[in-house]
Amino acid sequence: MRVLGIETSCDETGVAIFDTGTGRGLVADALYSQIAMHAEYGGVVPELASRDHTRRLLPLIQQVLDDAGLSRGELDAIAYTAGPGLVGALMVGASTAHGMARALDIPVLGVHHMEGHLLAPMLEDAPPGFPFVALLVSGGHTQLVEVRGLGRYRLLGESVDDAAGEAFDKAAKMLGLAYPGGPQVARLAEQGDPGRLRFPRPMTDRPGLDFSFSGLKTHTLTAIRQLERADELDDQARADVARAFEEAVVDTLVIKCRRALDQTGLKRLVVAGGVSANVRLRERLERECTKRDARAYYPRGRFCTDNGAMIAYVGAQRLLAGERDETGIMKAVPRWPMDTLREP
Ligand code: ATP
Ligand code: MG
Ligand code: FE
Repeated sequence: MRVLGIETSCDETGVAIFDTGTGRGLVADALYSQIAMHAEYGGVVPELASRDHTRRLLPLIQQVLDDAGLSRGELDAIAYTAGPGLVGALMVGASTAHGMARALDIPVLGVHHMEGHLLAPMLEDAPPGFPFVALLVSGGHTQLVEVRGLGRYRLLGESVDDAAGEAFDKAAKMLGLAYPGGPQVARLAEQGDPGRLRFPRPMTDRPGLDFSFSGLKTHTLTAIRQLERADELDDQARADVARAFEEAVVDTLVIKCRRALDQTGLKRLVVAGGVSANVRLRERLERECTKRDARAYYPRGRFCTDNGAMIAYVGAQRLLAGERDETGIMKAVPRWPMDTLREP
């Protein structure tokens, strides 16, 4: 089954084709990122995002078809991101998918964006087997999930306020770095002295698997103000703040992952979503896993953030099992908790 996947939930237009045939898999994928357009405003402007998806989507679909050497008529099904995300942006993907599916008379299915992130490591050469613990760390989510199979998800813990990626983006803004700040904070942190400042590890002093990152944001602002007042906020001090911030977020995530592995007794840890691209996080988790004879799995770099490949993959699994949208009923669900998903 050749499935076209369409991702338009936020600020990247992603398109891919996944072929479930033996020895096939991901046949083509393309991405257009709107980051440069939104950077000017310091964050995603929803209306601009939807309009740009409208401009980019059809050419990108043509591009992946060309790359795969396929015609539209050779597609067997279409999957699109139905949520969560920006409603206008979601509707571009949903209506395009439904329009194409109707014209080609093939099934179409709206899928969950976070299930896409969660299963993105399945596109790699040595994918994890079930069951596993997943740490989903993205711009909008920080969750620990026990995964027993496709659609068998138990939420172990999540952020009670900001997501880890959101915290990275806000810290970046305070440090005068451009949006999206995660990768830039990480780069700046490399020059930082880990011994100069120490930020708190929120909610690690009590049991449980929930996170809170909004206090760290305040802590970062206070640290910057103090340095400013002391007339010490030079490039080195900025790097030291970035380092202390990154260490605090990474350490907190690592502590909770360790707990989740202990609590479930599982030996596989999947880490996905934009923040899973963070090198220091990966290094620390590698070390933890080695210590406890467990193994960590990640998507390749470009599949950590939003992409069409993960949507094509998840869609293909569910479409194969017979799931599809009702004819003419497209879905765009801005808020959609992942633990409402079921086995196909
Ligand atoms: P969601 O998937 O929750 O709806 P999203 O799609 O906006 O949110 P992603 O595209 O998965 O999120 O990830 C983007 C986030 O990842 C941004 O907050 C960005 O700063 C962060 N990020 C990307 N690379 C890194 C990195 N190397 N270190 C830390 N954060 C990073
Ligand atoms: Mg994005
Ligand atoms: Fe995402």
